[in-house]
Amino acid sequence: MSLSHCKKLYRTGELRCKVASIGPEVNGFIYRSRKGKLYILVDESVSPEARTRALLHESHHATADLPSGKYVLGLDERNSCREQAADEYAARE
Ligand SMILES: [Zn+2]
Repeated sequence: MSLSHCKKLYRTGELRCKVASIGPEVNGFIYRSRKGKLYILVDESVSPEARTRALLHESHHATADLPSGKYVLGLDERNSCREQAADEYAARE
């Protein structure tokens, strides 16, 4: 997983990001549409820094977790290895 891979996904339109009101439980999430495109939604009410962290965190899921299939995060998974890896990536970039 690398930032250049994420940039390629954005350039080709395979990955898109939108800012929206998504509620207080999470700062962002990612999903794959029926047409196979990846969408990252980032909460509009958080700080620009938190939005950036959420975007990087979800971008990590786009390349590390989602290529193998559908990905749905349950709120009880917040401390899973997958989530820790995404947080570490967001903190590094
Ligand atoms: Zn995550």
